Amino acid sequence: MAYDPDNVFARILRGEIPCRKVYEDDHVLAFHDINPQAPVHVLVIPKGAYVSMDDFTANASDQEIGALFRAVGRIARELGVAEPGYRILANAGADAHQEVPHLHIHIFGGRPLGRMLPDSAG
Ligand code: 5GP
Repeated sequence: MAYDPDNVFARILRGEIPCRKVYEDDHVLAFHDINPQAPVHVLVIPKGAYVSMDDFTANASDQEIGALFRAVGRIARELGVAEPGYRILANAGADAHQEVPHLHIHIFGGRPLGRMLPDSAG
């Protein structure tokens, strides 16, 4: 899938849409999800134009890749969910219902999170 420079996270990165920022460095921005599915629901995104995890890991620099994953762990610790636990999730493509075509890692926490996947399809 080609990168759409007008997707909502590209617009957040350009400052065209506000966000509730929780972390930022040279390569990464993290902010609260607008429609949280758990008491902690943060989105961690690379600043570069990558659609998905497969795009990112094929085309991003080692520095960008390291920065994204270090940020995820750091944010989990700083938001106080490293204990008792949290979940990370990155949807890619139609089968995963990816809504925003800019790579984002969800961090969920703050309550028991249930099973890894819903039992039913859809
Ligand atoms: P996906 O289904 O692509 O993995 O998740 C997209 C996520 O982006 C959803 O959880 C949705 O609530 C969130 N989202 C969509 N638009 C906005 C927005 O404008 N601001 C923020 N903070 N989150 C958004």
